[in-house]
Amino acid sequence: MSMDKQESVKKLFTSQSAKVDTNKGDTYYDELYIKCRARLDDLKKLKPLNNRLDFTESIEDEGLERRDFLKWASATTAMLMLPASFTPLVAEAAVMMNRVPVIWLELQDCAGNSEALLRSDGPQIDEIILDIISLEFHETLQAASGHQAEKQMEEAVEHFKGKYLLFVEGSIPMGMNGQYGTIGAHAETFHDHLLRVAADAAAVVAVGSCATYGGIPAAAPNPTDAVGVMDVVKGKPVINIPACPANPSNMVGVILHYVLTGSIPELDSLLRPKFAFGYRIHDNCERRAHFDAGEYVEEWGDEGAKNNFCLYKVGCKGPMTFNNCSIIRYNEGVNWPIGVGRGCIGCSEPDFWDKYAYERPMSDANIKAPTGGVEKTVDEFGLGLLTAAGIGIGIHAAASAVAGKRVDKGEE
Ligand code: SF4
Ligand code: SF4
Repeated sequence: MSMDKQESVKKLFTSQSAKVDTNKGDTYYDELYIKCRARLDDLKKLKPLNNRLDFTESIEDEGLERRDFLKWASATTAMLMLPASFTPLVAEAAVMMNRVPVIWLELQDCAGNSEALLRSDGPQIDEIILDIISLEFHETLQAASGHQAEKQMEEAVEHFKGKYLLFVEGSIPMGMNGQYGTIGAHAETFHDHLLRVAADAAAVVAVGSCATYGGIPAAAPNPTDAVGVMDVVKGKPVINIPACPANPSNMVGVILHYVLTGSIPELDSLLRPKFAFGYRIHDNCERRAHFDAGEYVEEWGDEGAKNNFCLYKVGCKGPMTFNNCSIIRYNEGVNWPIGVGRGCIGCSEPDFWDKYAYERPMSDANIKAPTGGVEKTVDEFGLGLLTAAGIGIGIHAAASAVAGKRVDKGEE
């Protein structure tokens, strides 16, 4: 990582600006409620932008009942860190997700986030909602190709000027004047293409680790000089939804928040929505009790692994990774990496591939962990604190290993 980038990441981590504030007081929520009500009433007057699917029919087709939908709305309201009184509004907004146009660009990527968006094995409510959003352009998913696709893009940008959410998947190669990635018959570089389409967007949503921080294409030695959207798009709200791939529930959360309030969600200093990235994996991990008790998997397949002990010593980076996968999990909450016995590789953090994806504890990998309990966010940890906490976690692991050996000896 260049010195400049190191400095900017350092600044981001030392920013004191953010805090997850889950109770902002009655006046705040009363005013927000009135704003959301007015926004939904305005949206109701607009025609749906597509009628591909009827929301209610789709729910019934999948064998779901209204009660399932309300349960989802209530859980989503909590995920968005809104009071329970907002549940009916969230349910209304979900049905009107096809009033806001979405344009999706794929740049230097593996299409993993599109894949996450598409997964439809036994679709549940999140997937149904993603099916009804008004996706006006998505090169990989649409039937049109070549000149037809280019025309479709131009028409969507023109028609929905200033109104569409632009989702971007993939990094932007800056090397060789952007020639590593071009699009269309005129070989427009990804960089120019992105800036042109972003210029008329209401907001730009960078999806996945490549679009947010450069991701795997930016891993050393970064041959294409790949960067993330926030390094390129200026003068527009940019929302980062990192992870590899981004969790579809967080994509739904961001669109839903925009439909409901007409504004972007509160962000941390890495431009991530606080509702999704306000806490560490470690704060809500199901193996946390084993971490606190000093019970670790020492090597793959050992007794500790069979007993679902903590994965810190086999490289879990949960203590310094901010994401909500320990709460919402993947595949409609069925499971997640740590649930199946694989440590977190910090895929939602900058430079994750170079710094975090090693199968070795953080204390050996020259990265540091924040500490301080579930109420802490990335913005509250100064670098000095990170260093001290990283050492603290290493000492905790080492001390518990010694304690474990003593117990073993005593038992012999
Ligand atoms: S180190 Fe990893 S496995 Fe252990 S409690 Fe923390 S997040 Fe869970
Ligand atoms: S557990 Fe860690 S590596 Fe896995 S998806 Fe969540 S943040 Fe990414």
